Amino acid sequence: MTENTKIALVTGGTRGIGRAIVKELATNKTFTGDCVVAFTYRSCDECAESLIKEIEETGNKAVSYKTDASSFEQAKEVIENIVKEFGRLDFLVNNAGITKDNLLLRMSEQDFDDVINTNLKSVFNYTKNSARQFIKQRYGRIINITSVVGITGNAGQANYAASKAGIIGFTKSVAKELASRNINVNAIAPGFIQTEMTQQLNEDQTKVLLENIPLKRMGTPADIAGVVSFLCSPYADYITGQVLAVDGGMVM
Ligand code: NDP
Repeated sequence: MTENTKIALVTGGTRGIGRAIVKELATNKTFTGDCVVAFTYRSCDECAESLIKEIEETGNKAVSYKTDASSFEQAKEVIENIVKEFGRLDFLVNNAGITKDNLLLRMSEQDFDDVINTNLKSVFNYTKNSARQFIKQRYGRIINITSVVGITGNAGQANYAASKAGIIGFTKSVAKELASRNINVNAIAPGFIQTEMTQQLNEDQTKVLLENIPLKRMGTPADIAGVVSFLCSPYADYITGQVLAVDGGMVM
């Protein structure tokens, strides 16, 4: 580590989009230079170990924390640990998310609460607990992963769409609060990205979906990771409070 090394924290970093973000920030120095990446996950220990190994093999560094993103206390501990070990935090990427889809009439209170707590409250947990450090540094970049569904709504996803729309309101409010301290807060709204979250779609559903995507393909986790890296870079220093759709043109 040098004095220019950046420190990043990605929630839900072991699989899908989060994993691509961790790899991008830790290994591709084009936008962000040297970066040590801490990431959280909830259950898959082997996924965390293999990710750290992959990154170490490239001569870079990542550390993991097994924690539930919906816990405020655990978020506080993670941030305290990172600041203790690395002395600072530059980038926070709030990525952890789940779906528990059902039509409203069949949606249980538990499924509503679980999705709101994991997807939306987690963003509060990590942003609130890192804000003081960012303010002290007079520098920070926060990127929240929302979804196009938070903009358009989607039948069968009232809980998920509410959590993602909530992230957009949270992003804009906190961007206004923290802008004077050189802390930029933005959201990325992915469209349909190939991960385990979207694997349940059958061939017919995929066909219909592609008809509504002008670029005629699903996105990849790397499509999102590159934009995260750009938003963390000096090229994005004048961007805050924005929701950037990365969706092949689906929502215009
Ligand atoms: P995946 O299901 O592939 O991966 C989710 C990641 O989040 C895993 O690493 C998982 O860890 C972690 N995670 C889940 N719950 C928790 C929790 N309570 N605490 C800590 N970590 C947790 O999801 P995607 O990569 O597809 O999605 C990533 C983000 O992108 C989500 O916010 C999602 O809503 C959003 N998104 C995805 C889209 C898509 O098409 N895939 C579209 C739009 C938005 P573990 O394996 O240990 O459980």
